[in-house]
Amino acid sequence: MNIAIIGGGAAGLMAGGFLSESHEVTIFDSNEKCGKKLYITGKGRCNVTNNCDIKGYLENVVSGEKFMMSAINRFTPQDTMNFFEEKGVALKTERGGRVFPVSDKSSDIIKALTHHCKHCKIKLNEKIEEIKKDGELFKVFSKNKVYNFDRVIIATGGKSYPATGSMGDGYKFAEKFGHKIIKPRGALIPIKIKDKFCSDVEGLPLKNVTLKAVLDGKGKQLFGEMLFTYDAISGPIALSMSSYCGGMNKVELSLDFKPALSEGQLEARLLRDFNSNLNRNFSYVLKGLIPHRLVSEFARRLKVSEEKKVNSITKEERQALIKLLKNFTLEYNGLYPIESGIVTSGGVDLKEVNPKSMESKLAAGLYFIGEVLDVDCLTGGYNLQTAFSTAYSCATNLI
Ligand SMILES: Cc1cc2nc3c(=O)[nH]c(=O)nc-3n(C[C@H](O)[C@H](O)[C@H](O)COP(=O)(O)OP(=O)(O)OC[C@H]3O[C@@H](n4cnc5c(N)ncnc54)[C@H](O)[C@@H]3O)c2cc1C
Repeated sequence: MNIAIIGGGAAGLMAGGFLSESHEVTIFDSNEKCGKKLYITGKGRCNVTNNCDIKGYLENVVSGEKFMMSAINRFTPQDTMNFFEEKGVALKTERGGRVFPVSDKSSDIIKALTHHCKHCKIKLNEKIEEIKKDGELFKVFSKNKVYNFDRVIIATGGKSYPATGSMGDGYKFAEKFGHKIIKPRGALIPIKIKDKFCSDVEGLPLKNVTLKAVLDGKGKQLFGEMLFTYDAISGPIALSMSSYCGGMNKVELSLDFKPALSEGQLEARLLRDFNSNLNRNFSYVLKGLIPHRLVSEFARRLKVSEEKKVNSITKEERQALIKLLKNFTLEYNGLYPIESGIVTSGGVDLKEVNPKSMESKLAAGLYFIGEVLDVDCLTGGYNLQTAFSTAYSCATNLI
């Protein structure tokens, strides 16, 4: 068969190599080279998968968990690791099961995938503008040419980081075939905060905190590290939380600075701190509890002067401090624009795609793989695993 793959990213290259073992495969990419987004993954180191089992993967899928069940069983994170190691890319596992090439170079992953596609025709700088079905054949249109194919695989990615080539074209192609598109939104993206103090603490990292959210009345908590930026929160737990905030009508956010301590334990700790520093300023005790740059904001919210002596802090003020440490509210101001999302949530409606083969249920011979589908995961290598598993399922179905 003569197969077209639109998009030479993670999913397109993975599928192309397998398919070229038994078919004629042409990969089109609008860029001057394949894998432009792969190049910047994992800050240039490419967190290629997660060293977890299937259950671990599924727990990190934000949307599309049920759909991914079959694909992840057919091509597991272990299969991804074996694939790259067999291609000569030595891998290492870091904190949280994140798998990287030992070289810390995403280019090694791209080289392995490109080598995997050595029997594919790769047409670079060739942006596909339209796909039409003409009887049993597909007509694929670029600016100056029309190609005929028996099968077409859409692997155009999402809509975030458009400079890497993923500009949402796959959604337009899918819509032309009658597919419903779940509204694309940025995910794994900074969460904008209205509070004025945010700009004063730009760049401040927080460790071992719990970010709590009430999302349309439903609670969600994430523990770990985050970061304040000029007008937003970012870093691992904030980015992960953003994936749950999109599409919500009401989002309430707060931080627990002492998640390991109950209010009672925190009170005992404060009493100890206060008693050993009775003649010092309130700010001195605060500095022992929170990062220095947040002291003014805490004092402001508590309406207690930073210079007030610890021995004159009232019981009510101490109780208010405990509440604030456990529940420091942040005023949600939406998410950054989709362009800055690490992934796109939303995409081709999964109800209209066969989860075993990735084939469209509306147009026989048309397939969707990778981020163009309405599947998104948390950080940790799970999004690339999604691209690889959907690619493999599609390819093996066609072989
Ligand atoms: C900054 C950043 C860091 C990331 N880090 C990680 C990480 O470490 N680990 C992880 O698991 N995930 C990471 N991701 C997410 C991951 O990169 C994506 O989920 C993954 O690349 C999706 O693969 P894909 O093949 O579906 O799409 P893409 O990799 O986006 O590939 C789509 C390809 O299609 C081409 N294309 C689009 N439209 C057309 C058209 N009309 N004609 C021809 N070609 C077209 C594009 O040029 C592109 O090459 C990161 C994302 C970003 C933005």
